[in-house]
Amino acid sequence: MSQASSHTAASPAAHALPSYLQADHLGPWGIYLQQVDRVTPYLGHLARWVETLKRPKRILIVDVPIHLDDGSVAHFEGYRVQHNTSRGPGKGGVRFHQDVTLSEVMALSAWMSIKNAAVNVPYGGAKGGIRVDPKTLSSGELERLTRRYTSEIGIIIGPSKDIPAPDVNTNEQIMAWMMDTYSMNEGATATGVVTGKPVDLGGSLGRREATGRGVYTVGVEAARHLKLEVRGARVAVQGFGNVGSIAAKLFAEAGARVVAVQDHAGTVYSEAGLDVPALMFHVKQTGSVAGFAGAQALVADAFWDVPCDILIPAALEGQITRANAGRIQARLVIEGANGPTTPEADDILRDRGVLVVPDVIANAGGVTVSYFEWVQDFSSFFWSEEEINARLVRIMQEAFAAVWSVAQDKQVSLRTATFIVACTRILHAREMRGLYP
Ligand code: NAD
Repeated sequence: MSQASSHTAASPAAHALPSYLQADHLGPWGIYLQQVDRVTPYLGHLARWVETLKRPKRILIVDVPIHLDDGSVAHFEGYRVQHNTSRGPGKGGVRFHQDVTLSEVMALSAWMSIKNAAVNVPYGGAKGGIRVDPKTLSSGELERLTRRYTSEIGIIIGPSKDIPAPDVNTNEQIMAWMMDTYSMNEGATATGVVTGKPVDLGGSLGRREATGRGVYTVGVEAARHLKLEVRGARVAVQGFGNVGSIAAKLFAEAGARVVAVQDHAGTVYSEAGLDVPALMFHVKQTGSVAGFAGAQALVADAFWDVPCDILIPAALEGQITRANAGRIQARLVIEGANGPTTPEADDILRDRGVLVVPDVIANAGGVTVSYFEWVQDFSSFFWSEEEINARLVRIMQEAFAAVWSVAQDKQVSLRTATFIVACTRILHAREMRGLYP
């Protein structure tokens, strides 16, 4: 057999999946693959490129050793996955959590590709994480962990290559350390290497609130289509961190009643509506919603039975499942978190007539203002908060309208519609760029 014929595309090896893509079909990556399969019939001639979406472009697994305060050395596992860069540099957050896995980071990176294309910002998708419970680390240990991780992934990130941002358990301070570490290694200050930085270090006004504001913005649009009046609507929020607390605050300011909030340590309920700013203050003081005065404490599982009109999952993935989807009373679910609804639960909610605004559009406000931050860093010219919020609302409303119209046109869920819009944009870019070499 000639050398050429032994490498024909027909050889089974040419189509075999790499081992890390074969495992964990029920994990987050498996869920993402099911979502891509659902959308493939709608991609027309671009379906021939769909395999691109099923294989991350680049995966980096790094060992992150640090000195602990007691003098011992600890090793942590870190990841950076660049799912797709057809439309621009990789972009996506970094998560510090004890349950982080490669499957999760791969799925989160893929959802970033979809999200960035859905709101039409010029990025591909990426995500990173360290398998660590940061609550067990001192501030010094956290800084050393962040810096060593940044240095390890420094070979693939950069302002025009891949731009990390905050996610669960990472914040402005961690972005500042990442920016500084990368800059030290480069020998020049590179503010554009991360977004979600402190405003004094090239961060953008409005970034901290952007994801919650985006959740609120698309929520209002979806409610309008359902003829659901936001004023007086009952809202339940799971997760009261960056995303959940800001979304709750904006809904409360619009006259909605935030009746239930759940976080990792407690669930609080008030039929009359919780005082959201007071709850935010309580969380700042105590670290959790648990023990908030003026509210009834519920056991965690009772959260799913709470009478409400709008439900905002804004904690972690895999929260709305077959076990609780049938109990949810809301007419509208706005996914602040990434991947909070399993595909089975998605079907149950659809059959029950509950409208789900999917993560890939609902929580895209954060990356949209990250994009504004990156643009401002490149030009060293900073915009007012008013300007940022106005641009954010416009992009979110336009993206939602485009997705809504595809959903109506093709009679599909908003999730499938968002995937249709996004996958078409990504694969069109793929097709136009062609394959190198
Ligand atoms: P955060 O760390 O600020 O807050 C997370 C919240 O979830 C906390 O209130 C925590 O107590 C709660 N929580 C954790 N485990 C829980 C559990 N088992 N049950 C109930 N609550 C639990 O994180 P964040 O930045 O607000 O992110 C929340 C979600 O939104 C994540 O899925 C993240 O990927 C997604 N997201 C965040 C951004 C952003 O800009 N921060 C952007 C897009 C998507």
